[in-house]
Amino acid sequence: MNILLLGGTFEARILAKQLENNPKYLVTVSMAGVTKAPIKYSENMRFGGFGGQKGLKNYLKINNIDALVDVTHPFASNITYNAKVVCEELNIPRILYERKAWIEEENDKWLRLDCEYDLIPHLNNRDVVFIASGRQSAAHFKDQKNIFLICRQIDKPQNPFPYGNGRYLISRPPFSVESEMQLFEELKVNWLLVKNSGGSQSEAKLIAARKLGISVGVLNRPKSFGGTIVSELSEVGNWLEGLGYE
Ligand code: NAP
Repeated sequence: MNILLLGGTFEARILAKQLENNPKYLVTVSMAGVTKAPIKYSENMRFGGFGGQKGLKNYLKINNIDALVDVTHPFASNITYNAKVVCEELNIPRILYERKAWIEEENDKWLRLDCEYDLIPHLNNRDVVFIASGRQSAAHFKDQKNIFLICRQIDKPQNPFPYGNGRYLISRPPFSVESEMQLFEELKVNWLLVKNSGGSQSEAKLIAARKLGISVGVLNRPKSFGGTIVSELSEVGNWLEGLGYE
């Protein structure tokens, strides 16, 4: 069976390894190709967008894809939507793995947000906002001259930080709870801004904020497009088995 696995997450890597061990499956892992020097963790990998729904449709047809497994990030809604539409059109079975969202725990000071702008009324003069939700988030606060933004990035952006009220912090995960606590204390962070990505890989910042009593703006996930959605990787394996290929 020819499987197209849409990757870009830690779990995609685990799943690719598992599926590759099954001789019934020929797996191609697809990556957006946005990260500099991406790790090649699978024999069969392709990099770069497909060119929207039309490009994805062509790709699926030309490569005789029998099933599509979407293991992209919960906030990667464009590719997930395109995959849903095109698979429905071509009648190709599709499954979406989505890790469980984080849930507020005791001592957490969370503010749930539909959009970054919703945080603005809660900010005070000279607050330091640590942006762990991506570069695009920073733009929402560019006119808030009375606060300071620290925007963490994995790769150094080509241009300097575009607004007068902040800077980039270049740093590569994984991060420990201890290092996150030390960082937040050093930088005198009052607010942490995150996407509700879920999973344990990037949870250290939330635990650090809980321990330090730092307020957290938690961006809600985009709306679901429906279809077969699972939150355990083993369920993807079961679903593939259920397709009945020998
Ligand atoms: P997106 O908005 O859904 O995707 C933007 C475009 O990138 C898509 O329309 C598609 O281009 C291309 N693309 C995305 N994932 C792809 C894949 N696996 N294979 C081939 N093309 C892909 O997603 P995004 O938020 O930009 O994220 C891009 C990638 O980074 C995703 O794979 C995602 O899992 C990963 N990621 C995202 C986040 C996040 O917070 N958004 C965090 C960590 C990792 P075409 O339309 O040309 O096909």
